[in-house]
Amino acid sequence: HGDSRDFDEEVKSVCPFCGVGCQVSLKVKDGKVKYVEGVNGPANEGRLCVKGRFGFDYIHHPHRLTKPLIRREGAEKGLNVDPSNPFTHFREATWEEALDAAAGGLAHLRDTHGGASVAGFGSAKCTNEEAYLFQKLIRQGFGHNNVDHCTRLCHASSVAALMENVGSGAVTATFNEIENADVAIVIGANPVENHPVAATYFKQFTKRGGKLIVMDPRGVGLRRFATHMLQFRPGADVSLLNAIMSVIVEEELYDRAYIEKFTENWESEKQHLAQFTPEAMEDFCGIPAQTIREVAREFAGAKAGMIFWGMGVSQHIHGTDNSRCLISLALMTGNVGKPGAGLHPLRGQNNVQGASDAGLIPMFLPDYQDVTDDGVRGAFSEIWNTGDFSAEKGLTVTEILDAVHAGQIKGMYVLGENPAMSDPDVTHAREALASLEHLVVQDIFLTETANYADVILPAAAFYEKNGTVTNTNRQVQIGRAAVSPPGEAREDWAITLELAKRLGLAWEYDHPSQVFAEMKRGMSSLDNISWDRLENVGAVTYPSLSPEDPGQAIVFGDGFPRSEGRARFTPASVIAPDETPDAEYPMILTTGRQLEHWHTGSMTRRSKVLDAVEPQANCSLHPGTLRKMGVEPGGKVRLETRRGSITLMARADRAIAPDMVFLPFAYVEAAANILTNPALDPYGKIPEFKFAAVRVTAA
Ligand code: SF4
Repeated sequence: HGDSRDFDEEVKSVCPFCGVGCQVSLKVKDGKVKYVEGVNGPANEGRLCVKGRFGFDYIHHPHRLTKPLIRREGAEKGLNVDPSNPFTHFREATWEEALDAAAGGLAHLRDTHGGASVAGFGSAKCTNEEAYLFQKLIRQGFGHNNVDHCTRLCHASSVAALMENVGSGAVTATFNEIENADVAIVIGANPVENHPVAATYFKQFTKRGGKLIVMDPRGVGLRRFATHMLQFRPGADVSLLNAIMSVIVEEELYDRAYIEKFTENWESEKQHLAQFTPEAMEDFCGIPAQTIREVAREFAGAKAGMIFWGMGVSQHIHGTDNSRCLISLALMTGNVGKPGAGLHPLRGQNNVQGASDAGLIPMFLPDYQDVTDDGVRGAFSEIWNTGDFSAEKGLTVTEILDAVHAGQIKGMYVLGENPAMSDPDVTHAREALASLEHLVVQDIFLTETANYADVILPAAAFYEKNGTVTNTNRQVQIGRAAVSPPGEAREDWAITLELAKRLGLAWEYDHPSQVFAEMKRGMSSLDNISWDRLENVGAVTYPSLSPEDPGQAIVFGDGFPRSEGRARFTPASVIAPDETPDAEYPMILTTGRQLEHWHTGSMTRRSKVLDAVEPQANCSLHPGTLRKMGVEPGGKVRLETRRGSITLMARADRAIAPDMVFLPFAYVEAAANILTNPALDPYGKIPEFKFAAVRVTAA
């Protein structure tokens, strides 16, 4: 950890991992980050979790890309490159040569097959300015909207439901607002591991008497603090939530005045819920009717209640329906727009909120402005000083890889994403990447996706660059460069700028602050937030109503940004998971993160402390299930689905139901997504990562 005098310089920035957005102080000595401490940011008040505190030394790892690389003639594409010796498949190139090759290949496809033959995956790990420039490059440089990022794999269904029913995709209240709540529901989320600093506020809330209702098919860590832990059957979310709401209707516990003033479609919601009595639903949900009634009374009877949710809600083919139910529950109890109340999807990546706000999605321009709207496109054409571009919504992450298989998309620019690990049915994704005519990958390491690249562009890590990021609370914060990138690596915005120039675009930026200033012209969410202000105060919550206003922690107290200021009830019906267990694949597979590792593992598995704590691919099963198979905890099991199989170490965990297996997805040697089902939610286009039929045997 180092002693307090053991550094030359101290630089304030933001943790690069989860959407909590903890502010950090980086202690720098001899051009390296030596250790990290929490500072008093609005979301963390000095706190950090193990990732923020110890997960920084990946930036100094010998695997860092330090020079541009070009694939050697004839080198086979596949997961076959040793990141410590990429020269078997790639040769070093100058920046000029690599940028010319990268842009030249994409321009050739555009000019031969049309702009829609090229697609882009941007990153929620980059800054707002970088996300903005990336979507602008695809739209302006290729004339269409085939640009997306990992929000598609995370909260796309939540955003679809929020946009539809509330009129805005962001949280209605910060998570810190739980301080003013009497009751809170946490459903389909495991904040103790995935949003650890937010979880500390949830625990404190219970210490001062707040009622915490946790609902999850896994007995997640917060259960020890819960007044009720509802470990419902996987996939039964809609039936459970509808049953809770049916009690509120039946016992007239709803907030009549709020419903009349601020909502629409209440009557049809009410009628729809009549069939979902707790007694009718208890067997299906696996939760006794009496418990469902108690929870309904607890939530509806409180003065102020909050609802938090994570990917256990969103990553289903009925993910949008799950969120519709949560929105309806908040609306019928009047729990939006007042202290201690609100809807809060816990966002995953450090800048997934900001990257989405910046337009890194195929159906929306910045600030969720509809790309099919001529007026909106016209406004951006003017800001960009360019002609019109396609009015057609672009393809999403998984649709883009399907279009590669179909031969429609022939080239890709991938910045900071790792679809060769992160996409469902990853064998299919890897085949798509291998079949591309031209793939440009820009990253800090030679990721699994970079194994398939034609040109690799070495980028700066988060602590090596300047830019803004927006956390789950809508807090726009400034990240500052503490150290220089290794070798010839460059900041992402500067690389995208060079590619744009080579694609014939007249872009001129010398600093991210100029990009931020351009963003403000098309994004009213950034009103009253300037680069200088962020430099001075570190963070401003949007919306900010004046240059002095620190921003609105709670929104929609006086109505919603949709028709006549009213939010909407959208009734949700029960839809079975896409692939249910059967005799051949009798168990349920669910995937997620672990406290120590982040997403595809490229950063945290190269962080000494984190890798030492959690070094090995693993899955968790109920001890009784392991016993039946004759496997000791720590022994090996084989997991098979209709898409493939993996073998890995099994842990015993009593919190897992006997017919379930929990599988973290950070380990390339036993990649979870070899097994997952690519079936999509029809609205959010999010894959069903949380449910697949699996066979588990001793290995
Ligand atoms: Fe970083 Fe999230 Fe941990 Fe905070 S809670 S230190 S943002 S990983």
